[in-house]
Amino acid sequence: MLIHNESMSKHCSLRAGGPAQDFFIPQTLNELSNFLKNNQKPILMLGLGSNLLVRDRGFFGVVIKLTQLNQLNINDSIICADAGVTLAKLSRFCESQGLYGSEFLSAIPGSVGGALAMNSGAFGFEIWSYVDSVMTINILGQVFKRSPDEFSIGYRKVEPKHKGEYFIGANLTFSQTNKQQDAKTLLKKRNDTQPVGQASCGSVFKNPTNHFAAKLIEDSGLKGYCIGGACVSIKHANYIINQNHASSDDIENLIQHIQHTVQSKFNINLETEVVIV
Ligand SMILES: Cc1cc2nc3c(=O)[nH]c(=O)nc-3n(C[C@H](O)[C@H](O)[C@H](O)COP(=O)(O)OP(=O)(O)OC[C@H]3O[C@@H](n4cnc5c(N)ncnc54)[C@H](O)[C@@H]3O)c2cc1C
Repeated sequence: MLIHNESMSKHCSLRAGGPAQDFFIPQTLNELSNFLKNNQKPILMLGLGSNLLVRDRGFFGVVIKLTQLNQLNINDSIICADAGVTLAKLSRFCESQGLYGSEFLSAIPGSVGGALAMNSGAFGFEIWSYVDSVMTINILGQVFKRSPDEFSIGYRKVEPKHKGEYFIGANLTFSQTNKQQDAKTLLKKRNDTQPVGQASCGSVFKNPTNHFAAKLIEDSGLKGYCIGGACVSIKHANYIINQNHASSDDIENLIQHIQHTVQSKFNINLETEVVIV
């Protein structure tokens, strides 16, 4: 399905963002591959938009949303998940198969593709620790199987050695014996400390070495500070909430204000975790 001028605010958890010139939701891998073979435009790959801020003037190119590529299987104890599978579904599926280690993923409201691109993690665990191999597709629609050593992987950072490829799936290995924690307990912990349910992108900034971004922002007196409709959460200072029809400009101006304030107070540079397009 190809549509035009689609507002990205409908597809991003921050509920802000200008229009995508073209917006495509492939129903099958074959359809995606054929589309890419004929595409000349810049591409923005999209999962659930839970870590994305698209500027108000929008994206001049094609946004490709992979949520319909959502097959999930198990083969010889290896989990095979398409990029569009939600992390919550993946975590539930692992549990149903008697596999442990994916509990932390249940707390992250993204897709497998987005999590692979970000090396998403929580409670001290990160998705790439469980990756056996990934499947990628390049801008010509060719499919590859890649091993983790073909990527440079860090804290919320993944750099592929082969540029111009996107994730279409992953083979993941989880433990048959070591239960991490009960997913419900982790979700409760999260709900108690973070403003879950409000329009946000989760943590806006990465934690600098030896510091917590939330503490630096709170100690800068910025909890509750707003620009336009965008506010620093009272519950967790590393969250920006779209409280009242914030534009992407409001959110980005607030991000910059936080960065300048923390820099001048503590001489620490806060790097964004949210991807700004
Ligand atoms: C309430 C809340 C809590 C959160 N908590 C956490 C947390 O605890 N830990 C954490 O790590 N994150 C957290 N996040 C952020 C976010 O959920 C994760 O980064 C998530 O994995 C992103 O997945 P997504 O499908 O939404 O990606 P998107 O937001 O759609 O995309 C994110 C980036 O990945 C790229 N991308 C997406 N799909 C692909 C693909 N198939 N191939 C290549 N690139 C792709 C996009 O172009 C973009 O640059 C939270 C967000 C919210 C709203």
